[in-house]
Amino acid sequence: MSEPTTTGPLTQPHARATPSATAAAGGLAARAAGLDAADPLASVRDRFELVADEVYLDGNSLGPPTTRVMERLSDVVGREWGRLGIRSWDGSGWWTAPERIGDRVGALVGAAPGQVVVGDSTSVNVFKALVAAVRMAPEGRDEILVDAATFPTDGYIAESAARMTGCHVRPVPAAEIGAAAGERTAAALVNHVDYRSGRLHDLPSVTAALHAAGALAVWDLCHSAGALPVALDADGVDLAVGCTYKYLNGGPGSPAYLYVRRALQPRFDSPLPGWNSHADPFGMAPAYAPGDGAVRGRVGTPEILSLLALDTALDAWDGVAVADVRAKSLALTDFFLECVDALVPAGRVESVTPQEHAERGSQVSLRCHDAGEVMRVLLERGVIGDHRRPDILRFGFTPLYTRFADALQAARVLADVLEGTP
Ligand SMILES: *Cc1c(COP(=O)(O)O)cnc(C)c1O
Repeated sequence: MSEPTTTGPLTQPHARATPSATAAAGGLAARAAGLDAADPLASVRDRFELVADEVYLDGNSLGPPTTRVMERLSDVVGREWGRLGIRSWDGSGWWTAPERIGDRVGALVGAAPGQVVVGDSTSVNVFKALVAAVRMAPEGRDEILVDAATFPTDGYIAESAARMTGCHVRPVPAAEIGAAAGERTAAALVNHVDYRSGRLHDLPSVTAALHAAGALAVWDLCHSAGALPVALDADGVDLAVGCTYKYLNGGPGSPAYLYVRRALQPRFDSPLPGWNSHADPFGMAPAYAPGDGAVRGRVGTPEILSLLALDTALDAWDGVAVADVRAKSLALTDFFLECVDALVPAGRVESVTPQEHAERGSQVSLRCHDAGEVMRVLLERGVIGDHRRPDILRFGFTPLYTRFADALQAARVLADVLEGTP
C-alpha cells in the first residue's frame, strides 16, 4: 500500500481541461462556496482531526478521530487505569459503560434508553441477534432470509446461525425480502444501506411485511447509523446491530452495538450467555440466570479503551440534529454527482448509487474501468476513498466534517486522473 513514487499511466501530468470544463468548474466553485457558507453544520468540522490538503471521503469505512479523543484516552490510561486501577470498574463507571454508551448510540438510531448495548464486533452481534431471533420466532419455522447482496460477514454468520438452529438460509434481494417472507420464515437479516452500491432500503415497509408474515426483523445499520435518520422504536424493529467505527467515528475496531426491542428483552435468549449478562455477575454462580434489559446482550469484559474512545467521539454529535445531517448528506451526494457529470470525461464512470433520495444512503459508488488503479492514484493525490473489486470507486460523504468544496475537489481530481488515461 505504500509505494513511494509511481510512474503508472494515470500519474502523468495533464493540463487538458477544455474551455467549457473550466467554465463549469468556475461555476461549481462558486456554488460550493455558497453551500458551505450556508451550511448549519459547517462548524462541526472543527471537532475532527483532519489531514490538511486531503479530502477524506472514507468515513463510511473508518471515521477520523475527534479532537478530544487523545486527551480522553490519556486520562483513561494514566488516571483511571494507571492510578485507580481496579477501582475504576465502579469508580470510573467502566462496568456500566456498555449500557450508558449504548443509550447514546440509541439516541442516534431512534431507540429509547435501555435497549442498546455496546460491545463485541458487528460480526459477533449479528450472530447473537440472529440466533436469538430464531429462538423467539413461532414454532416450526426453519428459514432465515438474508439480503442477497449482503456484506459477506453477515452472510457467513447467518449460515452458521442457521445450521445451529436447524434452519436454512435463503438469499433474497433486500427490496424483495418483505414479499418473500412466508410462514416458514423465522427471521430476516437486512442491510439498511448496501455497502457496495449505497442503496438505502425501505426499513419501515420491509419490517412491516416481515411482521405480517410472523417473522422477526433484524437490521444491520453499519452504513446508516450516523448518516441518516433511523427510527428503530417507531418502526417496530425487533433487533438491530451496527458498527461504530464508520459514521460514528469510534476508531479502528471500536465495539459494535446490539439493539433488542424492549418488549422482546425478556425472551432474548443469547447464544453467548457470558458472565457479563448474568443477573448477578459477581455472584459467580455455576448456573446461568440472565439479567434484565439491554445487559442481556453482553458477553464478557467490555473493551474499555475503545469503548471510551467511542464515548468521546459521540460528543461530536452534541447539538447536531440527524435531520440536518441527512439534508446535508443528500445535498453533498447530489452536488458530487453533478460535479462528476460536469467534469469527468463522458462515459468514464457510471454511478451505481440511486438518483432517488429515498433510495440513497450517504455514499456515491462509481463504476469505473481499472477502479483499483484509479483509486490508488486518487489516494496519492489526496482524495481518500476506497475501491471494491472489481470495478467500484466508493466515496463516503460524512456531513459532520465534509464540505461541498471537498466534493468538488474530489470530482476535479477524479476528472484529472481520468483525463490523463485512455
Ligand atoms: C462494516 C460492516 C461490518 C463489519 O463487521 P465487523 O465485525 O466489524 O468486522 C459488518 N456488516 C456490514 C454490513 C458492514 O458494513
